[in-house]
Amino acid sequence: MEHSVAFIGLGAMGYRMAAHLPSTFKDVRVWNRSFEKAEAHSAQYGTRAVSLQDALQADFIFSCLPTSKEVESIIYSNNIKTGAIWIDCTSGVPESAKNLARYLEEKNVAFLDAPVSGQTIGAENATLTFMIGGQREAFDRAQAPIQCMGKLIQYVGESGAGFTVKAVNNTLLAAHLWAAAESFSLLKQQGVNLEAALACINASSGKSGVTENILAQRILNQSFPKTFALALLAKDTGIATDLAREQRLPIPMLALTQQFMQAAHVSDQDNSDFSAAVKLYEYMSNIKLEQ
Ligand code: NDP
Repeated sequence: MEHSVAFIGLGAMGYRMAAHLPSTFKDVRVWNRSFEKAEAHSAQYGTRAVSLQDALQADFIFSCLPTSKEVESIIYSNNIKTGAIWIDCTSGVPESAKNLARYLEEKNVAFLDAPVSGQTIGAENATLTFMIGGQREAFDRAQAPIQCMGKLIQYVGESGAGFTVKAVNNTLLAAHLWAAAESFSLLKQQGVNLEAALACINASSGKSGVTENILAQRILNQSFPKTFALALLAKDTGIATDLAREQRLPIPMLALTQQFMQAAHVSDQDNSDFSAAVKLYEYMSNIKLEQ
């Protein structure tokens, strides 16, 4: 395709996501704060490592940064191509998306809040779920590059709606994670074989994404492979609880979940994977969650 595409932020997600763009687009530009990652990407996938200013002159500009703060600092202090569409795959703050969309609209640039789920393996296999907020017309025009990376590409509403869905999804993930830690500690304390219990639960109504994937792959084998930082999950739960507080919606269970994630993050010395949040419960219960 003749359109140019840029990807800003080649972290655990971005590096893998941007790898799929050259199969459809000839002009794929990548930029990363630590520039050697952009150069490595260019050598590995045939993208072009460019300056930030060159990246911001592409027709489609993707970003995947830790928080909305880093996205804002780039957008508010640089010139962006008129007519471009900015597709922000950061798990960000809904209010920030609304402000950025308004600010960019005046410069004739569309902004879509387009967070993703599916973890690094979904980024690698181009099977991510995109939950997208913003102008419907921009969503339609941005289909080609998004389809390079996604499987389910869902329009969820106006600016901020994508970030809202993502924050709620990850707060559910956190709640399931904590509930699984308590539940499987109880099973272990009662002398039940955890693998056998897991097989029953995964065929029953108590199952979740955590019981189906995370427990066996990351926790019961105590591997905690680092693909999604606990700090980022704590951030996501904070976004959801901030929204509820602003609207005075009582969410006692989700608020407690957020507190657990925050405590797990603060007590974590190793910048661990999100699944390591259960280590805080292991400490509280004095039970190791391993088979
Ligand atoms: P990483 O920490 O792996 O990567 C962060 C990226 O942001 C790096 O490219 C980093 O550059 C860059 N960056 C950090 N600070 C700045 C800054 N001040 N200015 C410019 N660039 C900066 O994060 P992930 O890829 O894991 O996550 C990115 C986003 O995607 C987050 O919002 C996360 O919540 C979300 N997400 C993550 C998933 C996962 O499984 N990991 C799944 C779904 C969503 P540098 O290389 O120089 O440090």
